[in-house]
Amino acid sequence: MSTDIDFPEHEPAPPKIRICLRCQTEFESAWAGERICKACKSTHAWRSGEGVRTVSNRSGGGGKSGGD
Ligand SMILES: [Zn+2]
Repeated sequence: MSTDIDFPEHEPAPPKIRICLRCQTEFESAWAGERICKACKSTHAWRSGEGVRTVSNRSGGGGKSGGD
């Protein structure tokens, strides 16, 4: 007797709980290579490297020197 097992058509790797490499927080990684939680990803800091310094040169505006 062959029982019809309800196989999932194509099941991608199920989300797995991993530890974020950045904040060491458990998160649901969608795929095997995902080691950074969404929170950290959203910071964009991990992309550009570490310690992204936002150079805020725009303090006290109006300094527009029209250099021709
Ligand atoms: Zn994180």
